[in-house]
Amino acid sequence: MNVLIIYSHPNETSYNASIFQTVQKHLAPEHRVKIVDLYKENFDPVLRFDERHKRRDLLSWADQLIFIFPTWWSGMPAILKGFIDRVFVAGFAYQNGPRGPVGQLDGKAWIITTHNTPKIFLPFSQDYAKVLKSQILKPCGIKPVKMTQVTRVEYMSDRQRKEELEKIAQIAKRI
Ligand code: FAD
Repeated sequence: MNVLIIYSHPNETSYNASIFQTVQKHLAPEHRVKIVDLYKENFDPVLRFDERHKRRDLLSWADQLIFIFPTWWSGMPAILKGFIDRVFVAGFAYQNGPRGPVGQLDGKAWIITTHNTPKIFLPFSQDYAKVLKSQILKPCGIKPVKMTQVTRVEYMSDRQRKEELEKIAQIAKRI
């Protein structure tokens, strides 16, 4: 399977970096894996209507997308939002049909995000990656979308955080 990991965290020693390493380490070796590391490549999130900087080829290539990012102000980091604005464009990711967008992509996705909000509050929160799942990926034809939310990240013990990494490793192995 062609796996594209879209990773968004600026700090190489962050917990998200540990998630990123864990996923890469545990994906089965027969997969072909490509990486978009948005901060490392200094991705320009500003939407410009030029063809040159778009990364559509990678999305067309991928059967499985994996997004890894921290939740900031209830949603995704701006650099990732900019990537989506620039790459998931009309005419490529979706077409405008009579009843709304018609997805042009296929494949599935796994969203891994971290935050501090306790799990109990998630049903009442508006985003926390739900927008990416339901209002971006699904209308573009990408489904199913699995979601892993690591909650209360900064309040957990190191041991608990490592247990979460182990759960992520087990999911990565099954892809
Ligand atoms: P880090 O801060 O890098 O690490 C967290 C802890 O994990 C540290 O103690 C670190 O030492 C430890 N760690 C790192 N690697 C490992 C490892 N391998 N094993 C065990 N422990 C490890 N949260 C919300 O819930 N809602 C919000 O709206 C929200 N908005 C935010 C806005 C901003 C601008 C910022 C900066 C934070 C916000 N947060 C919010 C909190 C944010 O979601 C968390 O800070 C983030 O998810 C933590 O992930 P990280 O990778 O940055 O962790």
